[in-house]
Amino acid sequence: MTERKTPRIVPLVDLRSASLRTPAAAFAADTQIVATGLLTDTQQRPLRDLRISVTDRCNFRCNYCMPKEVFDKDHQYLPHSALLSFEEITRLAKVFVAHGVQKIRLTGGEPLLRKNIERLIEQLSALRTVEGRPLDLTLTTNGSLLARKARALKAAGLQRVTVSLDGLDDAVFRSMNDVDFPVADVLAGIEAAQAAGLGPIKINMVVKRGTNEHQILPMARRFMGSGIVLRFIEYMDVGATNGWRMNEVMPSAEVVQLIHAELPLVQLEPSNPGETAERWGYADAAGQHDQALGEIGVISSVTQAFCGDCNRARLSTEGKVYLCLFAAQGYDLRALLRAEASEADLASAVGHIWQGRTDRYSELRSALAPDAGSGMRRVEMSYIGG
Ligand code: SAM
Ligand code: SF4
Ligand code: SF4
Repeated sequence: MTERKTPRIVPLVDLRSASLRTPAAAFAADTQIVATGLLTDTQQRPLRDLRISVTDRCNFRCNYCMPKEVFDKDHQYLPHSALLSFEEITRLAKVFVAHGVQKIRLTGGEPLLRKNIERLIEQLSALRTVEGRPLDLTLTTNGSLLARKARALKAAGLQRVTVSLDGLDDAVFRSMNDVDFPVADVLAGIEAAQAAGLGPIKINMVVKRGTNEHQILPMARRFMGSGIVLRFIEYMDVGATNGWRMNEVMPSAEVVQLIHAELPLVQLEPSNPGETAERWGYADAAGQHDQALGEIGVISSVTQAFCGDCNRARLSTEGKVYLCLFAAQGYDLRALLRAEASEADLASAVGHIWQGRTDRYSELRSALAPDAGSGMRRVEMSYIGG
């Protein structure tokens, strides 16, 4: 199962320079939108969740995200001057929060590679929601630098982390990250995060059929009762370079069945609207959820679309806002920032962009043939973050 397969890699078509225009109405006095925290899109979906990519670089080459045949030594990463500064990120984050965002997730690339990320966390942790509450501030990481950084991240104001981990078997893990990184170091990072109080910790495992499905049960056993929520993610057709094929997707329903046969599960209510994961709790002998054993989540982005309550926007490393993980183009907010737009102009731009949002890619993909999405152009996950 662990032998290396020849991946079907598609060359990168660079979509980073393409961008959409902010509607002109955003800047006209009579059509300006003021932030009230009540913004909704064309499908009545509110804006609640902002994912900020702080770097397009990564020290891993997970085959499903940054295949090393494409992201090689000749790949052109963004120059430092193209990245949003921490001050620019915080300024935009404030605008999104004024429109109703409650949760900010830092991502990438590998966010812990961005120098002095703690400074950004300090600035973001000072923001308050429109109701005056602290934001839910979190970060998704491959865990490689977590053992070293967990305490400083907590001290800066980060509340919790999600760590990506695709298996416990060292050989499987090394082959999936494709840079020979040992699993023990990520496990040490997870322990350091727990010790630093960066919880509740979540672990994301991307399941690729034929690659790591035999790691599902060992992972479930390892994290059951640990206070950590393990989430299984269907391998998605994000980006265009990973050679995605439907037959490599293991539907979440199969993951649940596999675990349930060994470790009985009961379905739990969603914790909040827009929640991407379906929750399953480990059951006690009476078939009731045993809180001490905890829960798992499954994220069925391919087999069960959840666009209906998708409340997420994504801000790329260079300041473009993407309204869907599968979008080909984003709206360039950096151009506005650097043209010295006022706070009112920025708020109105974000307002118009979200109000016009129609995206529901996964729902539409479900209506198409399997594999139908695989040739479409869209921006890479490592550029806009997961
Ligand atoms: N480098 C960090 C990490 O790996 O946690 C953050 C960025 S990564 C793009 C965010 C998440 O996207 C990770 O949990 C990763 O496993 C997931 N991801 C990347 N490509 C994916 C794909 N093709 N299908 C499903 N999940 C994917
Ligand atoms: Fe890097 Fe994360 Fe993508 Fe893996 S999933 S290549 S760790 S950005
Ligand atoms: Fe949201 Fe796009 Fe994913 Fe649908 S496909 S849930 S709109 S990000």
